[in-house]
Parts: sequence; C-alpha cells; structure tokens
Amino acid sequence: MKLFDNYGRLIKDLRLSVTPRCNLHCLYCHPLDWEMTEPPGTISVEDVRNFLGAMRLLGLESVRFTGGEPLVRKELPEMIAAARELGIEDIAITTNGMLFKRKAKELKDAGLKRMNLSMDSVTPEVFRTMTRGGDVRRVWEAIETAFELGLGPVKLNAVMIRGMNEGEVIPLALLSLDKPLHVRFLEYMHLDNSNPELYRQRFIAGSETKTVIERHFGPLEKLEDDPSAPARLYRIPGAVGTVGFINPVMEPFCSNCSRLRLTSDKKLRPCLLTDLEMDIAWAFEAPNPLEALVDAILIATDRKPAFGNTLPTLRERVMVGIGG
Ligand code: SAM
Repeated sequence: MKLFDNYGRLIKDLRLSVTPRCNLHCLYCHPLDWEMTEPPGTISVEDVRNFLGAMRLLGLESVRFTGGEPLVRKELPEMIAAARELGIEDIAITTNGMLFKRKAKELKDAGLKRMNLSMDSVTPEVFRTMTRGGDVRRVWEAIETAFELGLGPVKLNAVMIRGMNEGEVIPLALLSLDKPLHVRFLEYMHLDNSNPELYRQRFIAGSETKTVIERHFGPLEKLEDDPSAPARLYRIPGAVGTVGFINPVMEPFCSNCSRLRLTSDKKLRPCLLTDLEMDIAWAFEAPNPLEALVDAILIATDRKPAFGNTLPTLRERVMVGIGG
C-alpha cells in the first residue's frame, strides 16, 4: 500500500525522534533551560517497533532516527534493528557525532545504512562557540569511522548564521573536493521565536552562500536532485563530493514533502513548519496498537497542510524538541 496526502504527495519518509536530550547545546537549537531528562512516557523500543510496523503497512520506505541527540539513547541499536527486521532498507541517523566513534560498529551491525552529521564549522573555536562546548575533532573521527565502516553517503549539515559561521563557507565547501562528502548548507529557521529582529540580522539566504562559493570556485555544476529530498545539489568542478543547499525559508520544498515526524513524547507532526501536532500516546496503549497507530497516521496525513509557515512566528517547539 502507498500513502498519499490530500495534495497527492506520497508519504514515505519518517523522522523519528528518540529523545529530547542532547549532549551539545547549539546556540540556534537548544535553549539553556531545555529539560535534559527523558520524561516517563518517552518512546520505548516496543513503541518504535509498533509505530514503524504501522508505517510499514502504509508503505514507509525510509526512517531517520534523530533527537535531541539519538546516540545518547542506549536503546538506539535495538530501535535500528527493529526497523531492519520490518524490512526497511533506508535506515539513517542525524547526529552531532560526539558519541559516534564508540557506537558506530554496534549501530552498523544493527542495520544503520547512512548518516547526516551536523558540522556548522571546521574551525575549532567557532564550532565550540556555536555548540556551546563541542569538540570538532569528534566530528572528524565520526567521518573517518563512517568511511571505515562503509556507512554512506555521509552528509554534513551546516546551518549558516551571520555573525557566527559565515566565514566557514569556503572551508566547509572544500571538504567536498577530495572526499565523498556531501556538504549541505541549511538556511537558519526561526524556530526559537525569541527575537525576530535578531533573527533577520542573522539569517543568510542559501543563494548568498552559493554566491560566496561560486566567487571562490567558479560556477557550480548542477546535479540531478532527488525530488523528495530537500537539498538542491551541485558539484564544484572536479570534486569527488557535492555541495547542497537546503533553503526551507527562501525556497520551501513543501510541494515535494514526503515526511511525517514523530517526537519522542509521541506527538505526530504532519509538518515541521507548523505547530500542528497530534498526541497519539493513546494509540500505543490501545488493545491493538498497530491498528490504532495506522488510524492515527491516516488522520495526521489527512491534516498535512499544503504549505508550512516559514515566517518568523511564535512556535511551541524548537528543533531539539521536534527532531530535525
Ligand atoms: N543532535 C542531532 C544533530 O545535531 O544533528 C540531531 C538533532 S538536530 C535538531 C537536527 C538538525 O537540525 C541539525 O542538523 C541542526 O543543525 C538542525 N537545526 C536545528 N535548529 C535549526 C534551525 N533553527 N534552523 C535550521 N536547522 C536547524
């Protein structure tokens, strides 16, 4: 069976947040007063198995485990194994990489296929400032480990923020030259509501980042995009890897959205860019959870809006609580 929403979009991808906890505190993502515990009712391995089972009945093709930081959840390998046992082939994580080297082999053995690594900067001081204390050497180790284990493609995510990392564009783009790394520049989304004026000052359009790269390397070669993936892909002439631009603010990709999101507190979100979410905790407790979850997923899909709202607006959750 295939699942389509009311706008004819095929829903085949899931972002599954397994914890609200994170071991970094990125300035643009993680409020300092963020609760660092997993409250009772946080999604369990059994819940993950049931939810993926229900999504699978509806045609799920890929799942990305995220958070918070998914690697702080010790049950992550079991969750990945559950996905594999259900026949899901495309199993990915989005991680900051801090714990990856230590856990990589176990994750691969469980069924992990590929990863997105957050790396906003290659310069240690800039990285430390943006992540409030993170060590960029751990990201390098994570990249090496992924290559050693054959986990790929390895995509790097850099959220571009004026006054923080605009000087990192070229060093980041350079990473794609001689390694099969896919460096993706993300537009900063206004999810923390705190200060719209500051947000406007800090926002950098993807087109500006692309211009900086082309001024340095010359015109980029356009590559074929996966229509349901958010990145527009290019190659620096002669490079092994690629550069990509994810522009949710200036060029929203809602018309190709193929995703649902489940938060670690069991709220089903039809759209990242609205506050719309459905509390589906009841469905996990139902006598027949699979049936109840299928119903819940159908309702959420029915509520998927045609477009999200990319304007600065008051939001109830930031990324660390939704799962990117
Ligand atoms: N802890 C993991 C990590 O660091 O990759 C996974 C969770 S993190 C919320 C997922 C992605 O969301 C990261 O690549 C992060 O850079 C991105 N993100 C967080 N806040 C964002 C924002 N306001 N705008 C754009 N991207 C954001």
